[in-house]
Amino acid sequence: MPGRTGPRYSSDVSRGEQLCFSDAYARSAAARILAVELEPMPAVLLDSTVFYPGGGGQPPDAGTLTRQADGAVWPVRSARKSDGEILHDLEPGDAALDPAPAVGDVVTAEIDWPRRHLLMRTHTALHVLCGVVWRDYGAQVTGGNMEPGSGRMDFEFERMSGELVGEIEAKVNAELAAGRDVRVNVLPRDEAFAIPDLIRTKINLLPPGIAEVRTIEIVGLDLQADGGTHVANTHEVGAIRVTGYESKGRINKRIRIELATADGAGA
Ligand SMILES: [Zn+2]
Repeated sequence: MPGRTGPRYSSDVSRGEQLCFSDAYARSAAARILAVELEPMPAVLLDSTVFYPGGGGQPPDAGTLTRQADGAVWPVRSARKSDGEILHDLEPGDAALDPAPAVGDVVTAEIDWPRRHLLMRTHTALHVLCGVVWRDYGAQVTGGNMEPGSGRMDFEFERMSGELVGEIEAKVNAELAAGRDVRVNVLPRDEAFAIPDLIRTKINLLPPGIAEVRTIEIVGLDLQADGGTHVANTHEVGAIRVTGYESKGRINKRIRIELATADGAGA
């Protein structure tokens, strides 16, 4: 990384545990600070974290670090992957008045849970949209992005039209209401590459060095290789609205959705 100073994390520091990938509902964790970097902006590596570093269209978490010894709080404005580790970007403070945390400090790392849970519901809704559009219209997804409460997906979907908007919305809401479980699995690469549903979602674009593939299954509807956080059952999403679609060319169409309920049924 150009201009980077401070420690490197590859060999001399043990790898931080990344709880967001195994337990999307973990909101906070006690952690020890393994490394602090001050330039160009303050950033911290923890031995265990609940922060999601962003990726796959899902934005990174924000939150706080609270030092257990004295209650000092540092806002975490974002998190990111660097050399395989999750770094926590702190709000830059006045170095004299607001010293950065130190290596060895024990903190409670806590994410902004209402925002994250909204992202989990939004992310899961987008999977249901993908699953419905593939199952009923045979259109493949090519990309997507989300904010808390709204998102978009791009499809190779030549037949998409304004008349289909209501139909797609109703089908997605029926699947959400069906209460389908959402399962996380980690598969050996060879096994994952043998699954047709994963091939369809461009698993072949994964870098060759990856030995295991994390998958998200909406049981009976959708299976994707995916690194994000999702709710455990589609009930928890509530209902969605399709807020628009755009043609990005003859074949490529973009569908926008938003969550239509303030809170999911299971939240
Ligand atoms: Zn996902």
